[in-house]
Amino acid sequence: MAKNTDNKRIAVKHVRDKAKSAYEKDDHCCICDGREDLELHHTHSITILLNDWAHKKGYDISTDAGILAVRDEFIEQHHKQIYEDVYTLCNRHHVKLHSIYGKAPATHSAPKQTLWIQKQREKFLAGETGIKTVATAGTFAQFY
Ligand SMILES: [Zn+2]
Ligand SMILES: [Zn+2]
Repeated sequence: MAKNTDNKRIAVKHVRDKAKSAYEKDDHCCICDGREDLELHHTHSITILLNDWAHKKGYDISTDAGILAVRDEFIEQHHKQIYEDVYTLCNRHHVKLHSIYGKAPATHSAPKQTLWIQKQREKFLAGETGIKTVATAGTFAQFY
């Protein structure tokens, strides 16, 4: 039987297997539209959510049978965190996010992470407009 510490990861794997569509990546980074090195980010660490929840409920998820018995209940009660609060990011933006919020961001920082992602997106879009303006200026410059 797997040891407790190992099973933390295994328990999440069981959630992943069941909630598959929540782990399917978009084909572009939601900040910069980049299409390479895409990774998935949940603003709520599913590992932390699952362990806190099981602890509160008094569930033993240290065995496969234990997690399988309560898996559906966990997914049902955390639908938003599992299916909606998930973002496809390029490696560059993913690393940047975790450099700000830590390797396993605290649960309470989830709204802040969402805001950060939105802000980076706005910055990116504003930057694109900036590039277009410069390009236009370049075109005008050709007349001189
Ligand atoms: Zn990106
Ligand atoms: Zn992440």
